[in-house]
This record gives sequence, C-alpha cells and structure tokens, in this order.
Amino acid sequence: MPGQPSGLLYVTGMFRCAHCGAFNRIPATPPAGAPTCGRCKTGLDVSGAPQAVDADGLARAIASSPVPVLVDFWAPWCGPCRMAAPILEQVGRAQAGRAVVLKVNTEDHPEPSARLGIRGIPTFIVFKEGREVARQSGVLPAPVMTQWVAQHA
Ligand SMILES: [Zn+2]
Repeated sequence: MPGQPSGLLYVTGMFRCAHCGAFNRIPATPPAGAPTCGRCKTGLDVSGAPQAVDADGLARAIASSPVPVLVDFWAPWCGPCRMAAPILEQVGRAQAGRAVVLKVNTEDHPEPSARLGIRGIPTFIVFKEGREVARQSGVLPAPVMTQWVAQHA
C-alpha cells in the first residue's frame, strides 16, 4: 500500500487551510459534516490535494507546518511538470494528513526557486521542521515518488 507510515502511528491528520494557511489537526476519522478551519472558519480540504502557494504562503508553511511539506516547483510551459501534476495529486492524497503538498508556479513566483538554487523544473523538495531534507529533480513514476516522499516524511 502506498504511503504506509514509516513506524509512526498517526492518530490524527494535519491539514493546511488553503484560505488562510493555518494548520488544523483533524481526527483520523473526521466527525460528520464538513471540517472547517479553526482560524478562519473556511471549509477545510482534507483530501490531501496539492495546494498552490505564493512565496509568502510557502515560507509560512515551511516554517509552521507540524508535518513534512512536499513542494512541487513547476511552470505552465514545462511538459514534464504537467506529467508530474497527477502524480503529485496521487502522492498528496496518499499522504493526506501526514504531509502537505504545495505547488509553486515558478513563473508567477520566481523568488523561492532563486533562493533555493533550483536550476531545473520540475523540482520537488521535502521540508521538515523548517529545513530541506530531500530534493528530487525530474519526474518519478507515481509509486517511486510516493516511496521517496514516505521515506523522508
Ligand atoms: Zn483558515
């Protein structure tokens, strides 16, 4: 099964609010009704689907996320990036609550990739407790990508 937790028992999940960026802890089996963000009361997406962020949103997520953050640095003109999108989606859903998947459009928001020294896209970086712990350039097949993320998450 992809996304098998590596030795850690997760009884709750952490989800980022796409609206305000706050992290919300949700029980593994969410209570009936749609979960909402504790800070801004907006509906919370608990699917694990990748969220688009700008430079600011990225910096805040990396600094404040209680779970590993996988970031996809991409651009609309990049063919391999488009191939990677559904894979990222799969990985995000498999890791829902255990990791947060973010996407940075490097054309609209070039600052983070410049700061991180990213030379080619797509590039994927896993951040843990505010630090980069793994980096991968180029697309990997979905199972390999899932394993790579799980290994570092
Ligand atoms: Zn919110």
